[in-house]
Amino acid sequence: MRTVRALPLLCRGLGLTGKADQVELPVDSSGRLIGSPRPVEHKRGRPKRLDHDRVQLAAQALCLEEMFGLPVPVGELFYAQVRRRETVAIDDRLRKLVERVTAEVRDNLLANRVPPAERKPKCRSCSLLHLCMPGGTGPDRDPRRYLARSLASSLGETGPEDPP
Ligand code: SF4
Repeated sequence: MRTVRALPLLCRGLGLTGKADQVELPVDSSGRLIGSPRPVEHKRGRPKRLDHDRVQLAAQALCLEEMFGLPVPVGELFYAQVRRRETVAIDDRLRKLVERVTAEVRDNLLANRVPPAERKPKCRSCSLLHLCMPGGTGPDRDPRRYLARSLASSLGETGPEDPP
């Protein structure tokens, strides 16, 4: 097995580009590819109930299928917190989810629209938390309260609470 890291990805069919953390390529002794590529996405946390990580992995699989002209039936998610891999079947349900999410993101980009972020438990382990700031931008949140609370917190005081 040959391991390639930070492999640039492209899927013209869906209009996707990206970079895979790691791709495992089964090769023979002369370095010729003899099987399907397998994407391995590395995550900081632990396995999740929701599909976000699996959708990302499936998008990588669709890119690899187009790039190598081979089926990619399986990928892996490696979770650093539990140091364990989760094997994910790239099935029809995930493929359709990738197509749907891609279309929704494209619609939002074309309309120059940013959907409001909703603060959820998953936000705590999200690497985009410092950019997204769902505590201040969710549909029921008031940015002025968020800023006041953040300021109060940095001063060691208690700030205003958001409505439940
Ligand atoms: S911080 Fe933003 S991007 Fe991350 S999970 Fe929460 S809402 Fe989604």
